[in-house]
Amino acid sequence: MKRLIVLGATGSIGLQALQVIAARSDLTVAGLSCDRNVALLLEQAVALGVVDLAIADKQAAATVSPSLYPELKVRAGPGGAARLVREVEADLVLNAIVGFAGLEATLAALESGRPLALANKESLVCAGSLVMSLAARMGTAVLPVDSEHSALYQLVAAAGVDTVDSVIITASGGPFRNWKREDLAGVSREQALAHPTWSMGEKITIDSATLMNKGLEVIEAHHLFDLAYERIEVVLHPQSLVHALVRLVDGAMLAHLGMADMRVPIAFAFHYPHRVPMDVPRLDLIQGLSLDFSAPDEQTFPAILLAREAGVKGDIATCSLNAANEVAVHFFLKGTLAFTGIWEVVEAVLAEAGSGAFGTYEEVTAVDKRARLLAAEKCALRAVRG
Ligand code: NAD
Ligand code: MG
Repeated sequence: MKRLIVLGATGSIGLQALQVIAARSDLTVAGLSCDRNVALLLEQAVALGVVDLAIADKQAAATVSPSLYPELKVRAGPGGAARLVREVEADLVLNAIVGFAGLEATLAALESGRPLALANKESLVCAGSLVMSLAARMGTAVLPVDSEHSALYQLVAAAGVDTVDSVIITASGGPFRNWKREDLAGVSREQALAHPTWSMGEKITIDSATLMNKGLEVIEAHHLFDLAYERIEVVLHPQSLVHALVRLVDGAMLAHLGMADMRVPIAFAFHYPHRVPMDVPRLDLIQGLSLDFSAPDEQTFPAILLAREAGVKGDIATCSLNAANEVAVHFFLKGTLAFTGIWEVVEAVLAEAGSGAFGTYEEVTAVDKRARLLAAEKCALRAVRG
């Protein structure tokens, strides 16, 4: 029996993780966390018999009545998820929190020697060197849940790391593939939230529309596989059936295919190094399958270029890029920043960001905070009527 802590249990990945767990008798839940969706978290806790919880939003946490739920132990506030990870016995932590807010729990899991199934790619974008060196020091596994990186994890292991020339991650291209820059300025929140192949949380859906998600994933791959940026390629693949490929030294290529279903990489991370049968839709090759690949338009969608530029400068720059992006996406979703303003704000913050790596979590939070303030100023300068 494997005991899991599910952080971000009320989100898109969290819910799919609970589906995977419900279908398996060898997995059980020891702790759950959310930001503010207390009603859903309590429903999950009662259904699964979980008493150890974390609720990041203090006001939301205060609505859990101790007289109604005397058995529950709720850790309230932003540090709650990290405390949950430190205090509750578990065999694996799934971090499916969105954004920089997930970093503290990532570090807490690795520090306490708990293997980590990592959906929160922002942990690696903000502090990849810190996270991976901590994992190496503690001998703790970081198992990627992101579909492309889960695919690469399998491909690199199958080929042997020394035989890999470069890796390729695929991008659907989002809802605005083939659009021109002048048409993108007027994109609405609803248009940007309508992803063609994946159903996900709001922030990553916007990141997929700007291609910033792919930029973040290039940085994620750099840290997970210790690869120089020029060995990480991005290719557009609108069907989202091939998740990643590797080019090998002898000219061969290996590809990882499957239906777009996050339960597969979630289950892979949960059971690693084993594989278990999964009741998910199978890819039907006979019905006529076409796979298209092309280069992303990096001039119209500059996010991948910005991410590579930040990546080469190091974690201080990638942390600033992430903070600027989180703030800009927030302003776009509020309706006060144009879609194209997201790239402008990220570029402007990056131009003022430092370079180099972090020594401590406190240094990371200071850079994140500074970049957020800068980004908010730049969003305000570009404000459109909401
Ligand atoms: P989501 O918005 O649907 O869910 C986010 C979860 O995190 C929720 O449970 C929410 O309550 C919690 N949360 C939000 N803010 C928080 C905070 N400040 N402190 C603590 N908890 C907080 O997001 P999602 O789509 O499930 O994505 C989660 C992570 O997984 C992201 O990093 C995303 O990039 C990554 N990811 C998601 C997908 C996908 O298909 N959804 C695929 C690959 C990677
Ligand atoms: Mg992905």
